[in-house]
Amino acid sequence: MAALKVAVVGAGVIGLSTALCIMETCPNCSVTILSEQFSPNTTSDVAAGMLIPHTYPDTPIHVQKQWFKETFTYLFAISNSAEASEAGIHLVSGWQVFKNTPKEELPFWSDVVLGFRPMSKAELQKFPQHQSGQAFTTLKCDCPPYLLWLEKRLKAAGVQMYTRKVADLWELHGKYDIIVNCAGIGAHQLVGDKKLLPIRGQVLKVHAPWVKNFIRDGDGLTYIYPGIHRITLGGTREKENWTLSPDPGTTKDIFDRCCSLEPSLWGAQDIQVKVGLRPSRQCVRLQREVLSQGGVKLLVVHNYGHGAGGFSVHRGTAKEAAGLVGECIAALQGSSSKAKL
Ligand code: FAD
Repeated sequence: MAALKVAVVGAGVIGLSTALCIMETCPNCSVTILSEQFSPNTTSDVAAGMLIPHTYPDTPIHVQKQWFKETFTYLFAISNSAEASEAGIHLVSGWQVFKNTPKEELPFWSDVVLGFRPMSKAELQKFPQHQSGQAFTTLKCDCPPYLLWLEKRLKAAGVQMYTRKVADLWELHGKYDIIVNCAGIGAHQLVGDKKLLPIRGQVLKVHAPWVKNFIRDGDGLTYIYPGIHRITLGGTREKENWTLSPDPGTTKDIFDRCCSLEPSLWGAQDIQVKVGLRPSRQCVRLQREVLSQGGVKLLVVHNYGHGAGGFSVHRGTAKEAAGLVGECIAALQGSSSKAKL
């Protein structure tokens, strides 16, 4: 049987990592990425890239934990290799602080990150407006370098990449055997998923190389995430807001909130403002689907809807999506050998 052709729609962190996992698990198929935008113009480029999971209400916690663990283990190995600086992956230590005692003392991911513990009284003196906190070390992706590193690996593995907007998955029928939908918020239009909604996020990327520790307010709204070259200051979570242009009032508000947590940021320089739309859903859509039109079938694997936590779970969900592609390949090979008989 000739090599099966797989098209991955989307070139954010989910599309690129899914394409890579497909190449690793199904080396005999040919993979093409079709995307309206590539780095640096995706939502994934805007993200802070911190590995602190977001919770998906309709996905069992043990599944979310497994996705996070696989992602953490994968990136930890990169951070511990000569590839780390090119891939933009590094360890970062810091604090999550709470004004009120959090509902759950131990988040489900506390034994995946490193050295999770309650903050000491001495540490809490840095945060006079907060009552308690958690200290830990996690990983951070500097997003544009990580996306370019994934693209480089894909090109080396022979994956073709084309800039193309796909208006309807059926456009790809005949040319490809399996379609993998990693269109992020674009899936709202592409497959008409009304359960998928944007949560607008505005962040600032600033130069303040003296800030080495991350600080996250437990409400999830205000955060300071140091990267290799710049620090991400956040943020906002605006449900069903599709506006991509930055709002100057919000920029000032984010900067003030972050300076109140870390006063040395008043000296930050070169403030850039970015906006992205988190592809939000009650659960990630990780699913096989057989579309059918007039007796003709199209095999689709969906992997989208990662909301505020795409970087935290990308490798785990990419592996699962590659497994679903493997199931489609087995089904196609089964039907072609039956046809020969
Ligand atoms: P995208 O990056 O949007 O990629 C979708 C791709 O599909 C794009 O290439 C697009 O061009 C393409 N596409 C869409 N429609 C079509 C079409 N019709 N035809 C062809 N191509 C199409 N997550 C974390 O884990 N940690 C964080 O610290 C973090 N911080 C964040 C901060 C902000 C401000 C924001 C906005 C998000 C943050 N996230 C974070 C969430 C994370 O960014 C997302 O979960 C993740 O980027 C989603 O990746 P994606 O590949 O699904 O989407």
